[in-house]
Amino acid sequence: MNYIRLRKNNLYVDNISTLKLVKKYETPFYCYSLSQLKNNYYRFNNAFKEIEPIICFSVKSNANLNLLRELKKMGAGADVVSIGELFKAIKAGINPNKIVFSGIGKTEKEIKAAIKKNILLINIESESEANLINSISKKFSKKTSIGIRLNPNVTGKTHQKISTGGKDEKFGLVYKDFINLCKKINKMKNLHLKGISVHIGSQITSVEPFKKVLIIIDKIINKTKINFEFIDLGGGMGISYLKKEKQINLKKYAKLVNKFLKNKDSKIIFEPGRFIIGNAGILITKIIYIKKSNNRNFVILDAGMNNLMRPALYNAHHEIVSLKKTGKSLRENFKFVGPVCESSDKFSDKKNFSNIREGEYVALLNVGAYGMSLSSNYNTRPTIAEVMVSGSKHKIIKKRQSLENLINN
Ligand SMILES: *Cc1c(COP(=O)(O)O)cnc(C)c1O
Repeated sequence: MNYIRLRKNNLYVDNISTLKLVKKYETPFYCYSLSQLKNNYYRFNNAFKEIEPIICFSVKSNANLNLLRELKKMGAGADVVSIGELFKAIKAGINPNKIVFSGIGKTEKEIKAAIKKNILLINIESESEANLINSISKKFSKKTSIGIRLNPNVTGKTHQKISTGGKDEKFGLVYKDFINLCKKINKMKNLHLKGISVHIGSQITSVEPFKKVLIIIDKIINKTKINFEFIDLGGGMGISYLKKEKQINLKKYAKLVNKFLKNKDSKIIFEPGRFIIGNAGILITKIIYIKKSNNRNFVILDAGMNNLMRPALYNAHHEIVSLKKTGKSLRENFKFVGPVCESSDKFSDKKNFSNIREGEYVALLNVGAYGMSLSSNYNTRPTIAEVMVSGSKHKIIKKRQSLENLINN
């Protein structure tokens, strides 16, 4: 079910026409469908219902407090990668015993905070980090629950810049180092090794890489004879950005995990971000100018790479649609670009786009994940508003940054 779709030739989010939203809110702004978010979360939960995993939403994909609160209500935990995300997850009401802390560069301050909050797991990525957590825990007279992140040397068949599981990447510990660290941690009195974690990358649409990862985890369990309480399989489940691109087959993945879990009494943790929020968000933007240059039509939008960095950063494609389909489409080639002074500030090219004029609006689709969370103040432009639609209601869930706030530092 798609809650963001054309209805009577207008783009709707739940029951609200986006044409109504642009009358009310200053563009550009992000707009989320709460129904879509719920649909995604429950579909994920349902696919894995046999094993009842802990679903730790990846806060870095979208850190809006209001959305985190909604996810908390659905039963989500959180995967955090900084003290800011940790405190935000807790502020959203997420129980610390459903929070895992990932990342290769946790500082002393971040580790102290995580220990004090008694979170479920700190997923460590180096021996030095294990030593530091052990010594801080000792000072606090605590035994801290940790997981070790494995680098399985499996790449996710995804964009190079969002692949994390290859042996040359900075993430996790390769097989041999993992085994050695397990032995050392056994002697560290203030650590409790409870988990093994992996995350091989993002936007993975085939189950094959995940299958390989499960085989390697089995190998590690056989070798170390550790009965891990938690097996954290990370996130990375891909969605459909292009019509021809299929989202990951969760049923197939669930079958593999169910089989993997037979004869084990471990709890599975997942850390999905994109799958949960990706297609629940759009970016609504106004056409400032249309400029013909060298036989090209540049459609200059009021949203740029400062608002949505994925195209500039990863060459990511986001479908662009007119808020109002006119029926007539123009044969020409349109190049959608932002206002930022960088030549990489461009979105997709489109042929046969609907008849558009200056002053009208378009939406970039599937921008709920790594959209707002990657945005910046580049060119001294404010961060933009986020709007949530739920059924027939809509409201601001984050205000556009004021000019005053923007220029005062
Ligand atoms: C980014 C990240 C995730 C989420 O990845 P998605 O592709 O958005 O599901 C999960 N776990 C870790 C450790 C991450 O760094």
